[in-house]
Amino acid sequence: MKSALLGEGSSAPVQRGLATSASSAPTLAKPPSGFARPTSGGWVPSARQWGLILLFHLCLAGAHAAPKLAVTATVGMVADLVSSVGGERVQVESLMGPGVDPHLYKATASDVNKLQRAQVIFYVGLLLEGKMQDLFNRMARTKRHVYAVTEGVPEDLLLEPPEFEGHYDPHVWFDVPLWSRCVEVVVKGLSEADPAGREFYAARGEETRRRLAGLHDWVVKRIAEVPDGRRVLVTSHDAFNYFGRAYGFKVVALQGISTVNEASAADMVKLVDFIKEHRVPAVFVESSVPPNTIQRISKDAGVKIGGELFSDAMGTPGQMENGYDLGTYEGMIRHNVNTVVNALK
Ligand SMILES: [Zn+2]
Repeated sequence: MKSALLGEGSSAPVQRGLATSASSAPTLAKPPSGFARPTSGGWVPSARQWGLILLFHLCLAGAHAAPKLAVTATVGMVADLVSSVGGERVQVESLMGPGVDPHLYKATASDVNKLQRAQVIFYVGLLLEGKMQDLFNRMARTKRHVYAVTEGVPEDLLLEPPEFEGHYDPHVWFDVPLWSRCVEVVVKGLSEADPAGREFYAARGEETRRRLAGLHDWVVKRIAEVPDGRRVLVTSHDAFNYFGRAYGFKVVALQGISTVNEASAADMVKLVDFIKEHRVPAVFVESSVPPNTIQRISKDAGVKIGGELFSDAMGTPGQMENGYDLGTYEGMIRHNVNTVVNALK
């Protein structure tokens, strides 16, 4: 605002006036020396002066606009969902960037600060952020607006594979319509924290659901290129059960549902046998899990690595691939589906 008001040639004295007192405002009402003076009557601002006056009022309007709602999210997928619903009314920050494994992630002191400062907190839940759950429970006792977005998914649609030992599988974002059900929690959370934006969030939530439905249709069409018998997804950890259920893939993973337990030698032998027996065309590494075990499997089974899939973290923001930003949820889904289809079809 300061620099907009200061024309070229304005120097220190003017700047001090603006910074330290209200005396700068009245100076705009009468022509400062050097401004064009009309030949008769009162002061008529020149075009440039009108510009300055307009800018001044725009600055005032800007200063009076409501500050953005400060939201902290855990993983990028949640931050993306909140940005999509919250638009310009929110300022979203995510704690975990590209390549970070949420199963193992522990909050740093700076994360705790960010969470404490946030007006609203969103996380995936279902113990995806296993080592942060206690922290969220504690936060929820003192803060009103702490939400697990998977609260929006009905329990009967959640998977409970045996290796999860009584817990639900948290990787719901790979079933696009299921992820779309989480929009409701984001709309509710933002509206509770910022009631003046209620209609705005509801409309953008609706628009987000429409976009996700379009993405789902694209996935279904693309997946149809892979013949039924070749729809087997071999990866390092169990992030793709919902993807498998939604899009008709058999999913075989080396590690169980979380990355906390490492695969045993016996697991590796079993997986190599499975790949040979079923003539699986390719296996996949994941961006948030070290690739060495899958590389080993690929070698032992004599099968190619079909590419790298995003599992529990999105890509780098701004990195484009086929016109999609890999640092977005949509880019993540399109990258994975293209990678899987190109390797298996
Ligand atoms: Zn995972």
